[in-house]
Amino acid sequence: MHKIQPKPMNFNCVFTSCNYKRNDIEEKEFIKHLKELHVDEILDISNKENIPVSMAEMIIVSNSKVFINS
Ligand SMILES: [Zn+2]
Repeated sequence: MHKIQPKPMNFNCVFTSCNYKRNDIEEKEFIKHLKELHVDEILDISNKENIPVSMAEMIIVSNSKVFINS
């Protein structure tokens, strides 16, 4: 098995209208949140920026990650 263990991270949802904030969760858990609550916004960004939905999603995920100095 060469599967890399997903590393838990902190996420602070990038959408200002959203209060979602979780510590030590996996990326897939945050993506689940996006798919549940932000489908419209993701499609909107995808259309406006003329990029695929998957890329818009990726950008949102990366912008929602909270990096902590340790
Ligand atoms: Zn959110």
